[in-house]
Amino acid sequence: MDREDRVALDRRVIEWRRAIHRRPELGFQEHETQALIERELDALGIEHRRAAQTGVVGVIRGALAGRTVALRADMDALPISERTGLPFASETPNAMHACGHDAHVAMLLGAATLLQARRAELHGNVVLLFQPAEEGPGGAEPMIAEGALENPRVDCAAMLHVDVRLPTGTIGVTPGPVNASADEFTLRIVGRGGHGAYPHTGVDAIVAASAVVGALQSIVSREIDPLASAVVTIGTIAGGYRNNALADEVVMTGTLRAHDPAIRDSFAARVERIASSVAEGYGARAELEMRQGYPPVVNDAEIACGFAPILARDAGVAVVEAAPTMGGEDFAFIALAVPALQMRLGIRNEGIGAIRSGHSAEFILDEAALAHGVDALVAFVGALGSEQLPIA
Ligand SMILES: [Zn+2]
Ligand SMILES: [Zn+2]
Repeated sequence: MDREDRVALDRRVIEWRRAIHRRPELGFQEHETQALIERELDALGIEHRRAAQTGVVGVIRGALAGRTVALRADMDALPISERTGLPFASETPNAMHACGHDAHVAMLLGAATLLQARRAELHGNVVLLFQPAEEGPGGAEPMIAEGALENPRVDCAAMLHVDVRLPTGTIGVTPGPVNASADEFTLRIVGRGGHGAYPHTGVDAIVAASAVVGALQSIVSREIDPLASAVVTIGTIAGGYRNNALADEVVMTGTLRAHDPAIRDSFAARVERIASSVAEGYGARAELEMRQGYPPVVNDAEIACGFAPILARDAGVAVVEAAPTMGGEDFAFIALAVPALQMRLGIRNEGIGAIRSGHSAEFILDEAALAHGVDALVAFVGALGSEQLPIA
């Protein structure tokens, strides 16, 4: 591909991104996005199949022997009303690509274009994973269950996520944990109702719940190693009927996050123990219901360390070690199945207002970064598919 073709491709990537941005779709409703991907893969002559309802699996078969490398892009938007004022802003009320998944799809289509064109010199195969519902309830797990990592069998995987902490021209590559586990819970504090003027006749669930909320803060501050990372957040709390009635029940919901699977596994017992004993101290009762979310994303350390200098050379970017985050990401399921790498693509540009974090209604990304993302995906295939880098 000559210089002129590459400029045209970079423009095309931005066009794809804007088209998807205009028409954001929530998890498992990505029908238009799916159709766009299928149309473009057809135009490129890349074989593809559907998975996880609205997902697409494309396969590029290289002419030379090598590994099978999967590249994953998530497709879904968020239930947010866009307030960027961009000319290609969302045309759908209460839906917005505020996490950059529109850019992820566009960059993967861009990489697919380059890799398909180089098929004759390509080592191994490339599996393109266009995945729905990352923001929930999760599309990676059903895609794997439907065989997205088989036929051909995937040896390793990579993904990009845009990251407003890093300036355009920078890509973060971090060995080890990069995203946290994200489990949810509902905690019910059960007391006994009565007249607010005669508190001694009941068990006030509000007072008991207040003590429980305070006591739960000691999990992170007193029970977890200060050098480890953990979050206990209570996001909602509701209870009671009116100003002069004792609440017989308070219901809270929250999120529990950690990078270390052992800490993750310990959360339920800790919350249960503290909530139950504190509630009991007030004559109330605690009922805990846990819901498993995404596991932590752990980058393969050998791939991260080996690939960082290749990425700097082949993609012409500054490679930095980006700090892990406590956000969740269902690429975790893919990273549990095969050695994997999540790269963080710098998109920060103060000059155009690309300074707000993802999930903001004013989230803007610097489209100049998309060409770097395309190069990074292609470089990953080059280094891993050719077995230039070992896999443990
Ligand atoms: Zn997100
Ligand atoms: Zn995201």
